Amino acid sequence: MPNHLWMQEEHHAFADTVRRFLDDEFQPNRDAWKEAGRVPKDFWEKAGALGILGATIPEEHGGLGLTRHFDAVTFLEQAKIGDSGWGFSVHNIATHYITGYGTEQQKARWLPKLASGEMVGAIAMTEPGTGSDLQAVRTTAIPDGNGYLVNGSKTFITNGGSADLLILVAKTDPSVGGKGVSLMVVETEALEGFRVGRKLDKLGMRRNDTAELFFEDVRLPRDHLLGSEEGQGFYQLMRQLPWERLILGYGALGAAQCALKTTLDYVKERKAFGQRIMDFQNTRFKLAEAATKIEILAAFLDQCLTELEQGTLTAEKAAMAKWWGSETQCEIVDECLQLHGGYGYMNEYLIAELFADARVQKIYGGTNEIMKDLIARDLDRG
Ligand SMILES: Cc1cc2nc3c(=O)[nH]c(=O)nc-3n(C[C@H](O)[C@H](O)[C@H](O)COP(=O)(O)OP(=O)(O)OC[C@H]3O[C@@H](n4cnc5c(N)ncnc54)[C@H](O)[C@@H]3O)c2cc1C
Repeated sequence: MPNHLWMQEEHHAFADTVRRFLDDEFQPNRDAWKEAGRVPKDFWEKAGALGILGATIPEEHGGLGLTRHFDAVTFLEQAKIGDSGWGFSVHNIATHYITGYGTEQQKARWLPKLASGEMVGAIAMTEPGTGSDLQAVRTTAIPDGNGYLVNGSKTFITNGGSADLLILVAKTDPSVGGKGVSLMVVETEALEGFRVGRKLDKLGMRRNDTAELFFEDVRLPRDHLLGSEEGQGFYQLMRQLPWERLILGYGALGAAQCALKTTLDYVKERKAFGQRIMDFQNTRFKLAEAATKIEILAAFLDQCLTELEQGTLTAEKAAMAKWWGSETQCEIVDECLQLHGGYGYMNEYLIAELFADARVQKIYGGTNEIMKDLIARDLDRG
């Protein structure tokens, strides 16, 4: 399994903490939370108390002030136990928006609550009418008196049913297209005109309360515009996307590792034609290919993470990490399921959950077609 060269003693210690936390608090509940379609609030609060939610939040705002390597550790550990339902990734992205663009007052107000788990975060970009073409969003936050009047709807929102704080993509000036996009911070509790719609019935990620959200004449105070200038939303989104795409890459890596591990356990036990499934040359080649792809993916992601921390990671390279990572995850999980035979198709086997969860990785966070388009545009500019 990959030996991440950036992992020092403190990263290993943090990984141990996350692993123990997931073993004690998550694993005993994984079936019940799958059934419930959500992870309860007190799990978030326990993660907050251990410093997991606030690893990269500045110390003066209730976090540990560490580098993003520590978040990567958590994404890896979560994926390595075969879960993608706990929506820590979007919660984390929400905190990075506030850390990155919030005024001092906004940071002081929201970051401590996001670090402790008192608030669960979500990102609301996608709408029923538009996903890939974000500039076409129709939700508006029109300046009105001392604040903004919000109208519109969002869909497919991870943590949508449980989020206390949303980073909402809306147009403060619909007459100027993408230049009129702003990010609004929405506190959902007892917010008049705000409604959570259906919890969506998904193929995988079944522990997440992915939901539709509706805004009908919702009033937001002026200081709920993220930052202090309207029309910066698109720029703010573009600046954060490389990190979001790396998160998906590390999720892909951890899930592929989980698939390989559970498959190794299976093929060493199961017999056919008087020998272990592991002893067939086909099995050995498939698993050798999976292990090699995992090493290559890890090396590429680690290089991207180093560049991100240095401020040199380009959007194109992050797009490569997202599409190649998710594609590789899907290939590995599919081959691993095949090696389980019919049992791989049974929900009681972890590989079936990994298979159902993997598919969406090629879709959300920008579809893989959009990733390739971004890379090709850069090649064309030459
Ligand atoms: C489980 C789940 C969780 C999600 N979580 C969130 C969340 O937390 N927050 C959020 O805002 N969104 C979320 N999404 C939404 C997700 O990001 C979008 O589904 C995704 O961006 C694609 O948008 P779309 O579904 O509207 O597809 P469309 O944009 O309608 O695309 C349909 C197809 O057309 C292709 N296509 C579109 N444009 C082009 C082009 N220019 N060139 C080539 N092909 C193109 C796409 O690649 C795709 O294959 C989530 C989605 C799912 C399924």
